[in-house]
Amino acid sequence: MKWEENVRKTEPYVAGEQPKEEGIIKLNTNECPYPPSPKVRETLENLDYEALRLYPDMNGEKLVNALAEYYHIRPGQIFAGVGSDDVLAMSFMTFFNGQTPILFPDITYSFYDVWADVFRIPYKTCPLDGDFRIKKEDYFIPNGGIVIPNPNAPTGILEDVGVLEEIVAANPDSVVIIDEAYVDFGGKSMLPLIDRYENLMVVQTFSKSRAMAGMRIGFAMANEKIIGYLKDVKFSFNSYTLDMPSILTGAAAVSDDAYFKETVGKIIRTRERAKGELAKLGFTFTDSKSNFLFASHKKVPAKEIFLALKAGNIFVRHWDRPGINNYLRITVGTDEQMNVLIGFLKKYLKEREDD
Ligand code: PMP
Repeated sequence: MKWEENVRKTEPYVAGEQPKEEGIIKLNTNECPYPPSPKVRETLENLDYEALRLYPDMNGEKLVNALAEYYHIRPGQIFAGVGSDDVLAMSFMTFFNGQTPILFPDITYSFYDVWADVFRIPYKTCPLDGDFRIKKEDYFIPNGGIVIPNPNAPTGILEDVGVLEEIVAANPDSVVIIDEAYVDFGGKSMLPLIDRYENLMVVQTFSKSRAMAGMRIGFAMANEKIIGYLKDVKFSFNSYTLDMPSILTGAAAVSDDAYFKETVGKIIRTRERAKGELAKLGFTFTDSKSNFLFASHKKVPAKEIFLALKAGNIFVRHWDRPGINNYLRITVGTDEQMNVLIGFLKKYLKEREDD
């Protein structure tokens, strides 16, 4: 068909499964196992339903102001979007418009190459070393932009802020995006450097540490000029992306720092405990500083374990991709969920050995 020649053809991102069945232990998409702050519930319960007939505030002002206060920056340094996927996609469109390839690690968040493809952005991936670490020299070449997650996904590895700063400093002619989706679980943010480097943008999300993946809230922090360019593109696309409930519940979540710290603390404690338990079963890991483990078994192929877990109604993530196909990415759930996982694996590995 002729019309098909004009279609923007693209290979879409494949998200982790969202199973509909009851009774599944879902450790496959890095959601938070705890509910959002009670202040979020309160806000939803008191939502002014009549106000929903109005368009929401285009800038998500209440949310942006809450974030500005929390992070001690100016509201003009923040851009809020519909999950960090939205913020990142908008940023790719806004900042990566050159002919020179943009750079990102070869093992990383698998949406980056999808956005590059859909927006026709040339890109080059930089191989991680044998320990899944980035090699900073790879980013000291001419490029059209850089995006690096810290901690990286799906490895969970936290890069030293000093190394990332060297990359930002060496690339004054490119926008460098640091995707900090998992930074709250033990990482160090690049945020304090946004005043020093005009080309640095930090992106974070409410989907993990603030337990609000269902609300879809993400945000970018950078200098006013960068944020201004991002807004120009967003407002040329769709002005009202963040809906009213998201703006209000997002602001409520930010106001409850005690709950946020408590939730993150629980996840970190469970993560470290699970590492110890799984190590006893023959698993090895990266030193994940995120809300997931990146684990490989010394004897049993990851795919086998993945399928066995799935058959046992425990969903984790596995990629059939070179370099990472012998790893499982296991979201850190509650202690109870992790106990079920560990119990299942103990039994499964024992039975397999006995066969
Ligand atoms: N960046 C990374 C590294 C991620 O793993 C994710 C979660 N899939 C995101 C961004 C996007 O998260 P969200 O759109 O829910 O904010």
